Amino acid sequence: MSTLAEVLAGQTREGELYGVLPDGRLQCYACGHCCPLPDGAIGVCKVRFNQNGRLLVPWGYVGGVQCDPIEKKPFFHAYPGALAYSFGMLGCDLHCGYCQNWVTSQALRDPAASAPPMLASPADLVRDALRQNARAMVSTYNEPLITSEWAVAVFKEAKAAGLITGYVSNGNGTPQVLDYIRPWVDLYKVDLKSFDDRHYRELGGRLAPILDTIRRLHAMGFWVEIVTLLIPGFNDSRDELARLTDFIAGVSPDIPWHVTAFHGDYKMTSPPNTTAAMLLEAAAIGRAQGLRFVYAGNLPGRVRDLEDTRCAHCGEVLIARFGYHIRDYRLTPDGRCPACAAAVPGRWPPAFAGQVASRPFLPGRSRLTILNP
Ligand code: SF4
Repeated sequence: MSTLAEVLAGQTREGELYGVLPDGRLQCYACGHCCPLPDGAIGVCKVRFNQNGRLLVPWGYVGGVQCDPIEKKPFFHAYPGALAYSFGMLGCDLHCGYCQNWVTSQALRDPAASAPPMLASPADLVRDALRQNARAMVSTYNEPLITSEWAVAVFKEAKAAGLITGYVSNGNGTPQVLDYIRPWVDLYKVDLKSFDDRHYRELGGRLAPILDTIRRLHAMGFWVEIVTLLIPGFNDSRDELARLTDFIAGVSPDIPWHVTAFHGDYKMTSPPNTTAAMLLEAAAIGRAQGLRFVYAGNLPGRVRDLEDTRCAHCGEVLIARFGYHIRDYRLTPDGRCPACAAAVPGRWPPAFAGQVASRPFLPGRSRLTILNP
């Protein structure tokens, strides 16, 4: 019987995001690790490897698909109410002890994680997305940067079908991968986990490439939203939150910042759960640093008006939410406040098209074939 790694090694093709170093090793550019890979070596992500001088990368499968409200990603300033057909592959370039998607992200590191991959073509996925009335397709659940060749193949089909596309990512990018995905990715969510390089090293990364990616994403015209999962004792000091939000505001005060509540998961079960009061305090820090759109997530109905979008100019409620549910939508067709006509940053449709679902659901009878390790 084959192992998962052996099965996935067969689901590959030659990648495009790599170069050859003067000593003959390959260098992968799909994420900020920029692994130098001698023949036979596998990257930190465990899914890209040098085979006889060619970089082989994941292809032709998904580790999971789900239909999510776009608010779950979370995108609050892009196509409110849209259904985001969400897919992921397997593997990640980080190994966060609190990962909420560890079953897919850590599938090749942790024997306890098992998500049977399913064979899929880009056309299969787009057809399924359209069948579910999705407006967007999003690469998520594992780190999309490390499987960017596959995401781009899917997004080419998705765009031809009129869909919006997005990444839900840890932001550990490189200039090369951002150039590569720019024509095919509209929306980009970065999980900014901390503003302390030592914390990032505990998670298997570094802070600098992530900050550089955020600056580049904004400069390149992706629609960017940023999330910070607030973990008591890990990243919730006033000083760290002030520096983190000051950085975002320095890139643009119009970038929405979502501060969300931690609950014990995977290997990190000892910190207490984040309370609503902690979220409110963190949100106040973000506002004080100049951020104009701050949201508190994961605790519906318990965070005052921090689920709603308000006009940064006059304070009018523009979009009222409860959890992922849109309670009211008042933007004008050209994305302005109806009270003062201030432009609201985001990607707005000409009219609110209603909400397909305010809760995630699995697509009906899947036509994808499960690959059994
Ligand atoms: S995606 Fe990142 S971790 Fe994986 S091989 Fe490339 S540079 Fe290394």
